[in-house]
Parts: sequence; C-alpha cells; structure tokens
Amino acid sequence: MSAVKVGILALQGDVREHRQVLESLGVEVRQVRLAAELEGLSGLVIPGGESTTMSRLIQRFDLLGPLQEAFAGGLAALTTCAGTILAAREIRDGLPDQVRLELLDIVVRRNAFGRQRESAEVLLEVPAVGSEPVPVAFIRAPAIEEVGPGVEVLASYRDEPAAVRQGRHLALTFHPEITGDPRLHRLFLSGL
Ligand code: GLN
Repeated sequence: MSAVKVGILALQGDVREHRQVLESLGVEVRQVRLAAELEGLSGLVIPGGESTTMSRLIQRFDLLGPLQEAFAGGLAALTTCAGTILAAREIRDGLPDQVRLELLDIVVRRNAFGRQRESAEVLLEVPAVGSEPVPVAFIRAPAIEEVGPGVEVLASYRDEPAAVRQGRHLALTFHPEITGDPRLHRLFLSGL
C-alpha cells in the first residue's frame, strides 16, 4: 500500500476528515491545490462541501484542464457529496456555468433531499464492503437520478442510488469520512 499516493482536492470542504481516514489506512496523502500536485497520484478524493464554490475555485486556480488531463491519464476518483456533483455527466439544479468533470455516466440533482434539517445519519447496506451496514451521513445530499449502463450501483438510499462505481471511480452521495468507518475508502484503495 505504501506506493499508493492519494491526493485530496483541498480547495474547500471536509479535507481533514478524509485525510485522517486515509492515513489510518496507511496511505501517503497529499493535499492538492496546484496542478503540479496531481503528479504521480493514483487516486484523488474530491470531498463534500459546496459544489458551486468548489467549481469556482477550480476555475480560479486553473485546475479544470489539469484535472481532466489527469483523469484521462488514469487517475481514479473517490467523490463524496459535492464531489459527486462535480463528477457527474449532468447536474440538475446546478448553476449554468458549474464545472462538470464527467467522470461517471450519472445524472445528479443538487440538494435533492431538502435543506440542512433533512440531513441524516443512517446505517447503509453496502454489500460490496461486507454484511455489516456502514454508518454514513447525508448532508444536503444530491440524488443520483439516472445511471448509464456502465455504472454499477453499490448502495441505495430512499430508492435512489447512493454509492456507484464506474471503472475505478467511486462516487457517493453521502459522507463516509465523518462517521469513522473506513470500509468505503478501503474499497476505493483496493481498486488502485
Ligand atoms: N449541497 C451541496 C452542493 O450542492 C453538497 C453538500 C455536501 O457536500 N455535503 O454542493
């Protein structure tokens, strides 16, 4: 595992929590704010936060081209919540100029479960990581409203896909990093 280098896009959002989980799994972690910091990474976490803000910062830091290039070159993404919005093919209820990385063939709707008060901590069945349900948090979560034929649904919440995988990209509508269960991060790492 020590050869694996994972970056966390550290423009905004819950960077520190992802870092803690990954380091607890013995991975070398690098915070990414500059294009040069993408060099040599096997995986990149795009954290939760606010996708419209992250989108603006990606543009301001001139990161869109370098990110697209890195993913075209084989970089794998673990995206959570706002990160999953950025990774989608289509964003509903987004801003017209919002960045789309189009890493997965999914259509997402922002804030699909309502406002902050409707956020929830739940035990989610994710058979790919074991029979014990995973504690996760949904915080102003998006919904994945459509998935393309190449997308595997690993877990669902309220009848909508909540964890999906396409190739080596793993996209989650919830936060697995604040409830202390490292199994989804481990699943991502096992594909690198
Ligand atoms: N609602 C936020 C957005 O649109 C995502 C919330 C989150 O990442 N927890 O970006």
